[in-house]
Amino acid sequence: MATFKAPKGTYDLIPPVSVKYLAVREAISAPLRNSGYGYIETPGFEDVGLFARGVGESTDIVSKEMYAFETKGGDQLALRPEGTASVLRAALEASLHKQGNLPVKLWYSGSYYRYERPQKGRYRHFSQVGAEAIGAEDPALDAELIILADQAYRSLGLRDFRILLNSLGDKECRPVYREALQGFLRGLDLDEETVRRAEINPLRVLDDKRPDVQKQLVGAPVLRDYLCDACKAYHEEVRALITAAGVAFEDDEKLVRGLDYYTRTTFEFVHDGLGSQSAVGGGGRYDGLSEMIGGPALPSVGWALGVDRTVLALEAEGVELDIPASTSVFAVALGEEARRVLFGKVTELRKAGVAADFSFGGKGLKGAMKDANRSGARFAVVAGERDLAEGLVQLKDMESGEQSAVALAELIDTVKARLA
Ligand code: ATP
Ligand code: MG
Repeated sequence: MATFKAPKGTYDLIPPVSVKYLAVREAISAPLRNSGYGYIETPGFEDVGLFARGVGESTDIVSKEMYAFETKGGDQLALRPEGTASVLRAALEASLHKQGNLPVKLWYSGSYYRYERPQKGRYRHFSQVGAEAIGAEDPALDAELIILADQAYRSLGLRDFRILLNSLGDKECRPVYREALQGFLRGLDLDEETVRRAEINPLRVLDDKRPDVQKQLVGAPVLRDYLCDACKAYHEEVRALITAAGVAFEDDEKLVRGLDYYTRTTFEFVHDGLGSQSAVGGGGRYDGLSEMIGGPALPSVGWALGVDRTVLALEAEGVELDIPASTSVFAVALGEEARRVLFGKVTELRKAGVAADFSFGGKGLKGAMKDANRSGARFAVVAGERDLAEGLVQLKDMESGEQSAVALAELIDTVKARLA
């Protein structure tokens, strides 16, 4: 019979590597949980219109990469390609913004889906941890998020990442720039699709990764020269606050990001060990998104960090995460009676907060000790009928190899004391 494989562009997280993903999610979310961000979870799919309107019809994400489908009931849905539109939708639906507690600060962690050409660091199913601060226009909020992402990466031990920062202006100054850029782009030799893109969303042409396009973009008007005074002052304040926090960044006037909803502050975290899939995370301010999806004006800012690429970045830097062995005690029982007694002790250990595992499957001493080794446990508890008749078990220190007899009744306390 044919066997099944994970679908193209996806992969399974399996032990022992999967612990790294848990550790990365934990490390990214820890600074958020420590800074007033509440956990939010939204469905894996949404009304397709939410992304079409929120992320933007002309973006690659919506026009090429979305898993959109019709349900048996005739609903037009899409697997979520990103988190921000869903989180804002949920916040609006629950009226979180009406409770006089703006900004509403939320964090999330989950799976996202994009129909992309799979390659290293680019998958059709991937994982992000993200944060959104909804309903306040305050440069300190933009700075907070950038600082927290920096803290998250550093806590993992990453060093070779850079923060790219730009301002995209607002609804006052961006249209003026847009027109100037369009004028410039009309003079270039571009393929048909890019010409069309230049008409719909010219800023995204700046994001084109092809060298022949990039070459022609030298001398393009830069947004910085068109920013209005309010946007300039806002951006200067964000830069000053990040600088004061000791977080290094690079001004990148070409940084536009692939989503339509960004205004003012935009940033990206790139890692230099990842080749062309170098963005480990990105985000920015999206002051107009709420209105685009039918809500009131709610200036907001957020980011999403890619878990998959963060793990790749750790590998590229050779960072070994300090992940403690998941099992502290491994019980090896020889014979039926010993199985019953030790299984009971394992349950007791677990209740006492000690990570314990048991030799299942009726293996002999040799096979069971191999399992004990593989578990990474600090101690093995070994007992046969003879030990038990004397009320004893053998406690083996797996590091030193030392073994000593311990009274069965004192096992839990002894183990706890020796682990402490
Ligand atoms: P790229 O320019 O590499 O396509 P993006 O701008 O589309 O990235 P965002 O939408 O900003 O990415 O998503 C935030 C983060 O999520 C990215 O920085 C990346 O780490 C991760 N990410 C995005 N798409 C993928 C994917 N297909 N596979 C793995 N990770 C991804
Ligand atoms: Mg992309």
